[in-house]
Amino acid sequence: MNKERHLIVISGPSGSGKDTVVKRLMELHPEIEVSVSATTREIRPGEKDGVNYVYLTREEFERRIQAGEILEYAEYCENYYGTPKSEVDKRIENGITVILVIEVIGAGNIKKLYPDAVTIFVRPPSYGELEERLRGRGTETEESIKKRLARAVEEMEYAVDYNEVVINDTVDECAEEIYGLIQKYQQEEE
Ligand code: 5GP
Repeated sequence: MNKERHLIVISGPSGSGKDTVVKRLMELHPEIEVSVSATTREIRPGEKDGVNYVYLTREEFERRIQAGEILEYAEYCENYYGTPKSEVDKRIENGITVILVIEVIGAGNIKKLYPDAVTIFVRPPSYGELEERLRGRGTETEESIKKRLARAVEEMEYAVDYNEVVINDTVDECAEEIYGLIQKYQQEEE
């Protein structure tokens, strides 16, 4: 099978529920792995360094970019987010399916590097639902919520560039739909 088919990129606006869907996908299909990104944003309550993200200072993040350790990165709401090379290369070489949950600019850069990576965009059922999820999470300041909502509207326009678009109505169904799509793309290449 084409190795790049092991690389799955999932994007969706903040509040689309993509992280919850991916978490569920991992529970249902533990053979699939998720890449742990690096970021300069503040750690949120309940998050763990090395599990949700690797939390870095801007200086350290920039050093890693210079050292060629970051496969792709983007600035999102004034913070850097990036995929360490070490999270991807070995896994796809070894036939392990790895998911990157990243924003739209980074997803476009991955597609340039790995044209056969499978890209999936997760949409919320509606804009109202997205705002409700973002507020309900209780982790963001009002300023951050406003920025994320504005960014969400911009991001939604990128959906057309993805191989597939799924709507996150219910977490379980959305997780299974994504699993089905991964299978479909991987089988096509056999
Ligand atoms: P959050 O602050 O809500 O955890 O993440 C903000 C955005 O950054 C989300 O859209 C998330 O998917 C994206 N993101 C997380 N890790 C990466 C990464 O490694 N690269 C890129 N380009 N975006 C990322």
